[in-house]
Amino acid sequence: MDWNFTRALVTGGAGFVGSHVCARLLSRGTQVVCVDNFATGVRENLWELLETPGFSLVEADVSASPAEPPGEFDLVLHLACPASPRDYLRLPFETLAVGAAGTAWALNVARRHDARFLLASTSEVYGDPERHPQREDYWGNVNPIGPRSVYDEAKRYAEAYTAAARREWGADTTIARIFNTYGPNMRAGDGRMIPAFVTQALRGEPLTVAGTGQQTRSICYVDDTVTGLLALAASGHPGPVNIGNPHELTVLEIAEEVLRLTGSQSEIEYIEAAEDDPRRRCPDIGLAKTELGWAPETAPAEGLRHTIKWFAETNQLLT
Ligand code: NAD
Ligand code: UDP
Repeated sequence: MDWNFTRALVTGGAGFVGSHVCARLLSRGTQVVCVDNFATGVRENLWELLETPGFSLVEADVSASPAEPPGEFDLVLHLACPASPRDYLRLPFETLAVGAAGTAWALNVARRHDARFLLASTSEVYGDPERHPQREDYWGNVNPIGPRSVYDEAKRYAEAYTAAARREWGADTTIARIFNTYGPNMRAGDGRMIPAFVTQALRGEPLTVAGTGQQTRSICYVDDTVTGLLALAASGHPGPVNIGNPHELTVLEIAEEVLRLTGSQSEIEYIEAAEDDPRRRCPDIGLAKTELGWAPETAPAEGLRHTIKWFAETNQLLT
């Protein structure tokens, strides 16, 4: 995939997906300005990037109308947003704000520079879906007042703002609906299923499977997600486009695969199901295949092996 972006603004670049996006852009010769307030991101994710020529960090809250970083941009990638349920339940108002004011700020930067804009949206806009697999023309089934709504509705608002900017300003925007992504640079304690299972297995603790474990997720390795996001950014497609791996697994199967790959003797411990937890989630990626020529290439066992190795080798197990 080719692109000719010279300089990108990446909000949320200190986070899990954002740090990989920044690294990929830099590796392909695009300069990167990362704007992050470390609400859920960590400085460790930036150590290598800060040593890389062409990278700079602005520590700022994008919801608080910060001063625009100097210089020209031809690409704005808006990834800033707490993404783990544990994080957004802890930061409900910050999550709503970054979907609203943060998105407006990032879109206005893109507008002033005539830059391509990509919103990192989510499969959560489909809520607890009643259609399977989820295609982009499905409008979703979201509880607007449930605990997850601070995230789901913030992203739905962000999509609406992005669509309005395209209609009203003629802005060059796109929307990626990202499905569950995993890999190195996730925080051990972020509460998401894969960091939880991997660190529990490596420590010999029970794997905490929520509810019956029969709910499904379709897990995409971060390298594949980043390739999809940048293919969408480079494409000119208005979106929304699903970016995810259609390999659907139950949460219990994912826990068992982690046990198999780590060789851990840990037990499965069933814990209370989360409120409004989506029962099934699986992307239809037909649009990404035809419009972007993109499909994920990493099988869950391979991606999980890389992830387990990373967690075992970093000091994440101590945190
Ligand atoms: P993350 O929590 O690791 O990263 C989010 C980053 O945004 C963090 O570095 C955080 O500090 C920063 N941030 C949050 N609020 C901010 C603000 N107001 N100002 C500046 N920076 C702010 O999450 P992630 O998993 O890397 O997700 C990145 C993006 O992708 C999010 O927008 C998320 O909604 C979307 N997404 C991720 C997944 C996934 O499975 N990882 C799935 C769907 C969508
Ligand atoms: N989950 C689990 N144990 C955990 C963390 C999560 O069984 O320790 C479940 C969670 O209830 C959900 C699925 O795993 O059904 C995926 O959760 P995650 O937080 O990773 O992402 P979500 O898709 O819910 O945003």
